[in-house]
Amino acid sequence: MRLTVIGTGYLGAVHAACMADIGHDVLGVDVDTEKIDALAEGRTPFYEPGLDDVLTRALASGRLRFTTSLREAAAHGEVHFVCVGTPQQAGSQAADLRYVDAVVDGLAPHLPASCLVVGKSTVPVGTTGRLTARIAGLAPAGVRAEVAWNPEFLREGFAVEDTLRPDRLVVGVTSREADATLRQVYAPMLEAGVPYISTDPSTAELVKVAANSFLATKISFINAMAEVCDAAGADVVTLADALGHDTRIGRRFLNAGLGFGGGCLPKDIRAFTARAQELGVGAAVAFLDQVDEINQRQRARTVALARQAVGGDLTGRRVTVLGATFKPNSDDVRDSPALAVAAALHREGADVRVHDPEGSANARRAHPELRCTDDLLTACQGAELLLHLTEWSQYREVDPVKLSRVVREPVLIDGRNALAHEEWRAAGWTVEALGRPAPA
Ligand code: NAD
Repeated sequence: MRLTVIGTGYLGAVHAACMADIGHDVLGVDVDTEKIDALAEGRTPFYEPGLDDVLTRALASGRLRFTTSLREAAAHGEVHFVCVGTPQQAGSQAADLRYVDAVVDGLAPHLPASCLVVGKSTVPVGTTGRLTARIAGLAPAGVRAEVAWNPEFLREGFAVEDTLRPDRLVVGVTSREADATLRQVYAPMLEAGVPYISTDPSTAELVKVAANSFLATKISFINAMAEVCDAAGADVVTLADALGHDTRIGRRFLNAGLGFGGGCLPKDIRAFTARAQELGVGAAVAFLDQVDEINQRQRARTVALARQAVGGDLTGRRVTVLGATFKPNSDDVRDSPALAVAAALHREGADVRVHDPEGSANARRAHPELRCTDDLLTACQGAELLLHLTEWSQYREVDPVKLSRVVREPVLIDGRNALAHEEWRAAGWTVEALGRPAPA
């Protein structure tokens, strides 16, 4: 099938390459010419494990091309996937839909024939209906463009795997034809037994924000428990292990620590709250404000722990932050908790160095005031305090004995509760973590 994928960022680039990989004829579209040039040359503009291979294969097959022209996209696609960003509006909790609207406005007047426009971006419930009316007003007479929503659940770091073998596919459609078209697009996944949920657009739009709200709530729940553990001298990791054995609860997403960030969860729960208020049901999701607040508080609690670890004043203290990205296996630093903490330490006068295996270039761009490097030993040289804030597997493989010879003071804050504390303590380190009592 002839598909276009409009917006080739973390979501769209992966979607475009994977759709070509399963046999479709794909045109990727973006307004960012640098990104389009890179992708067309087979260079991924960001770090995503496995994407290089799929991109190279797709380009070599001749089934994947890139352009900056929406006019060309209109002529190419039977199905147009919309994958542009939906960030938080400045000065508001709501989603900024200007990029989605710009795609529709740019595409609709050039549509040569009836087609299906499929949104994948995360949007407020009701967007499909709004865009349907918008396209109808702009498309040439006689051209019918149906809009459907097919929210995306991929995780950065596993994006290729999640796209080729998703947990489930959810489509929100208003006609049988649209459903049949999407079944055809995803035929290889359906044949492999991936659950396919076909519903109305509002339900499909809501599935995505509800899923992210649930995940965010689970993380903030365990972080709230960590605060109680700190006050009571209890251990949140043991608590989470014990809770997790209950199959109704499950252990995943119960890792207490610095909390969530990134380009999705924080802005998605805020946009959901804003949309629920517009719909007159703000009270139903008011708990999400608490989820957000608990999450933000972990950043302040981590800074407080750092301050306390150096004796109460961070001014002039050499601090090293391990991790800049919002999660491991990605170079994405959008709303990164690790960088937020690093920046706060810097504001308190600490001499901060940040290490990240893949994200240091993006971190430098986002926070020019911080010294970021991808060399671990350089970053740790002379440190009086180490903070482990992004769970890269490399950090679990670090030898604490060797590292203790590089730093000035062997003091570690494990902001992710992911390192082997016993091993670090045996190597002479003082180890602190949220929700964990100091050893007797
Ligand atoms: P991103 O910022 O990486 O990518 C967005 C891309 O859209 C950019 O390359 C930008 O240049 C392009 N763009 C903006 N306006 C355009 C226009 N008018 N025409 C063509 N291209 C345009 O964002 P992302 O992380 O890929 O997220 C995109 C959407 O997918 C968001 O709604 C997000 O919430 C959702 N989502 C993201 C993920 C994820 O893990 N990143 C997962 C699921 C859903």
